[in-house]
Amino acid sequence: MEERYMKVCVVGTGYVGLTTGVSLAFLGHQVTCVDLDQHKVDMLNGGRCPIYEPGMDELLAEAAGNLTFTTSYSDGVPGADVVFVAVQTPSAPDGSPDLRYLRSAAESVAGNLDHDFTVVVNKSTVPIGSGNWVDAILRESFAQRADRPAGCEFSVASNPEFLREGNAIHDTLFPDRIVIGSDNPRSLEVLNQLYRPIINQTFTAPSFSPRPDDIGAVPLVSTDLASAELIKYAANAFLALKISYANEIGQLAAKVGADITEVTRGMGLDQRIGSRFLQAGVGWGGSCFGKDTKALIATAAEYNYSMPIVQAAREVNDRQRLIAVERLQDELRILKGRKIGLLGVAFKPNTDDLRDSPSLDIANLLLARGARVRLHDPIAGERFKREQPDLAPYFSDTIDALFDDCDAVVLVTEWAQYLELDWSKFVGLMRTPILLDGRHVLDADRMARLGYKYLAIAG
Ligand code: NAD
Repeated sequence: MEERYMKVCVVGTGYVGLTTGVSLAFLGHQVTCVDLDQHKVDMLNGGRCPIYEPGMDELLAEAAGNLTFTTSYSDGVPGADVVFVAVQTPSAPDGSPDLRYLRSAAESVAGNLDHDFTVVVNKSTVPIGSGNWVDAILRESFAQRADRPAGCEFSVASNPEFLREGNAIHDTLFPDRIVIGSDNPRSLEVLNQLYRPIINQTFTAPSFSPRPDDIGAVPLVSTDLASAELIKYAANAFLALKISYANEIGQLAAKVGADITEVTRGMGLDQRIGSRFLQAGVGWGGSCFGKDTKALIATAAEYNYSMPIVQAAREVNDRQRLIAVERLQDELRILKGRKIGLLGVAFKPNTDDLRDSPSLDIANLLLARGARVRLHDPIAGERFKREQPDLAPYFSDTIDALFDDCDAVVLVTEWAQYLELDWSKFVGLMRTPILLDGRHVLDADRMARLGYKYLAIAG
């Protein structure tokens, strides 16, 4: 298929929307990113990235000629071949996704559609059936416009996002697959065209994110709307339950005296299983697994169907956070008054995202038991102080201050900065040198040699 550059609008410039917009602009498409957050738009127009994502600053600079940021839909939607909607879809109190941002974005898009054919793409993770729901909102809002142009057509498609924060650019330019879903063949055709440079890998890779040696043509899964929507939830829930399975086996390993890292290594080398997402530790966090597993269960409930496997994955994950606290309690006996340091507040390394981070729960559980908590993070500190005002007073700006007079330290987020720490320097600062490795990433023998009492979550 011949490559053609398109006019693209991306609504929402968070982790997903920004990566999508900047990557498509880098590939040669003309992209306008719309976000209601004036501060974000101002930062981006000033060439500054509002999130921490490795390589994003460089890609922003390289794509600048094809990229505009605005708060106004009328700057981006008119004339666009494709409008991506990448707004947040957090959980509502009942577990179902809160779709008010999506509704508002769809209404604003409908108010600005102006030409013969626009594909409106749900890139947000939305419950199965949301494509039809967005289509209905678009049609209702469009019909209410006094100024609606004649001959203006549009159609809704789903293009779920699989990027990992911290690897967002690599995952977008070199994905395992691209999934597009629509009940309108013309929409599928447009999206197939839009993604040709990635599918065929015809672009020059950025210097900071070289093309993997083994990548060939990227598989395109072109399907109906409902299937594309379900693929996203089914994939995320599977990854979540893979981690929870490793954690469930990890607790059994500890009881029978087996080494969980050996067990998961032995399992993961089986190609039918694979080693990724199979590490035992304090469990998953982040904006997606928790809310997407909840949403999948809520969708099933609408059909009077239960999902015990997904439910169990959630319960095991919650339990891991408690187990971390109980490991400390077993060791220290009394948590009241103890100073516990948590290394890492981001939900995983290479991101400043704190959403559903295990650290937050562990800190709150420890505080509820009377411990004195200190937290540290090499990157996410400023966001933490802004977004977590209740925990902000417990943040340590330096690692020394965290270790000083500490009764135990927990490695919660496996940042490279922590793995490379001069651990010998800190052991002497602690009151009792208890080190709980929440990710099974430190060398237990070395830590013991340095004088730490090394504990693992499973073991
Ligand atoms: P985010 O909160 O980082 O970004 C959302 C952005 O949308 C914000 O900048 C917000 O200001 C903007 N916004 C909200 N309402 C708007 C409106 N009406 N008009 C214009 N802008 C608006 O969210 P995110 O992490 O990028 O996630 C977006 C979606 O992608 C979610 O559905 C999420 O589940 C899904 N997803 C996220 C990831 C991830 O790793 N973060 C991965 C895959 C899928």
